[in-house]
Amino acid sequence: MRKKIVAGNWKMNNDIVQSKALIEGILSKKPETTATKIVIAPGFVNLQAAVEQTRDTGIIVAAQNMHQAESGAFTGEVSVGMLKGINVNTVILGHSERRQYFGETNSILAEKVNTALKHNLTVIFCFGEELAERQSAKHFDVVETQLREALFHLSESDWSNIVLAYEPVWAIGTGETATPEQAQEMHAFVRALLRNNVGETIAGQTSILYGGSVKADNAREIFGKPDVDGGLIGGASLKADDFLAIVNAME
Ligand code: PGA
Repeated sequence: MRKKIVAGNWKMNNDIVQSKALIEGILSKKPETTATKIVIAPGFVNLQAAVEQTRDTGIIVAAQNMHQAESGAFTGEVSVGMLKGINVNTVILGHSERRQYFGETNSILAEKVNTALKHNLTVIFCFGEELAERQSAKHFDVVETQLREALFHLSESDWSNIVLAYEPVWAIGTGETATPEQAQEMHAFVRALLRNNVGETIAGQTSILYGGSVKADNAREIFGKPDVDGGLIGGASLKADDFLAIVNAME
């Protein structure tokens, strides 16, 4: 069974006071029970407080990144062990901002994925094409390469800890969303890739989220598509009401 997931990627927003207030807002208004897994990804320095604040609430706290090495001389970086040590067991990898501004390549991402899985983290793996690539009809090739080079070496059992997030770069933070049909087309393509390269079981079990300017007023239509299992939400995850409206749209 594919899990329904709505994840908030807070990016480099919210200090500790704002982070606590946003979590408080989510906790006070979230539905008592929900079939949708709610994930939040605060900045590194706010993770530990977020884990404590959400204990026994069902909310999952994720990191936005981690280094591929387990330890060592990598000034300013955060390791998998540091995340596990504060009970953060989920990490977003491959976000387009990491690829674009911090030089993360498919092969670096393959290493990060390996390190995360070795330590039993769940990976929310982001991928997606840039505008010029879509305009020149290369988007399917680009996505296939991103997945092949970073993930297709994994074993079947590894895949139970992978969540995919299709985020067309031209739709991130731009207010321009992929149409529900464009999202469905790519999600179906990715599921077929999984079927052909990893197997039917994994293709049927892997959640594929859509991300890129998802808002309360477009979420229901996007989430209604058969191969869309949820969303990775940036801007609209920074207000509890907006974020929870998107969670409700998944129900
Ligand atoms: P956005 O960001 O919802 O602000 O477009 C999505 C993301 O980058 O994950």
